[in-house]
Amino acid sequence: MGHDKLVHIDDLSFSKYIKAKEIELKIEDIADAIREDFHDKYPMLLVVMNGAFIYAADLIRKLDFACELNFIRIKSYHGTRSTGKVDIFMPPNIDFKNRHVIIIEDIIDTGTTMSAFIPELEKCNPASISISSILVKPEAHVHEIDIRYPGFIIPNKFVVGYGLDYNGKGRNLQDIYQLAE
Ligand code: 5GP
Ligand code: MG
Repeated sequence: MGHDKLVHIDDLSFSKYIKAKEIELKIEDIADAIREDFHDKYPMLLVVMNGAFIYAADLIRKLDFACELNFIRIKSYHGTRSTGKVDIFMPPNIDFKNRHVIIIEDIIDTGTTMSAFIPELEKCNPASISISSILVKPEAHVHEIDIRYPGFIIPNKFVVGYGLDYNGKGRNLQDIYQLAE
C-alpha cells in the first residue's frame, strides 16, 4: 500500500486497498460456491446497477453452467454517506416466478437497499433469493441481511473503484481504493 500513489477524485484522496488479482481469486471462490448450489438450477443473476456491473461481468464468466442475467436499478446513495432513501426501478418484463434469483451487489453497507428490495422481490414469488456482494461493511449494518456469497469484509470506510464511484467517478479503476486519512 504505502508506496502506491494516491488517486484524487474531486475533493478526496484514495489509496490502493484491494488489488485486482486478489479480487479475481476471491471471485473464483465465490463462483465455486455458486456452482455447487445452483449449477443445475438455471439461476437468474440480478445485477444491481450501476455499481455491480464490473463484478457481475467478472463473476458470470467464471460460471461454467447455464445462468440468466438481468439488471435492476436501485438508488440509495449520494456522496460518501448512505441517505436511507431507496428508489427501486423494477424491470417490467422479467418473470421471477419459481426462479432462483441471485442478487449481485457491489457493496452491502447499511443494508437499507437490500432490506427495501427483498420484500419487493418476494412479491414476485421466486423459488429462492440469495445475495452475493463483492464487498461487505459489517460495522455499518443497521439491517440484518443474510449474504450467502460475500466477497471481502471491509471496515466502515468509503471505497471506490471496481465499479464503485464517488460523485460518478472512479468506477473504471481496476483495483479497489479506500478513502485516505
Ligand atoms: P446500503 O443500502 O447497504 O447502505 O448501501 C448500498 C449502496 O450504497 C451500495 O450498493 C453502493 O452503491 C453504496 N455504497 C455503500 N458504501 C459505499 C462505499 O464505500 N463506496 C461507494 N462508492 N458506494 C457505497
Ligand atoms: Mg450497489
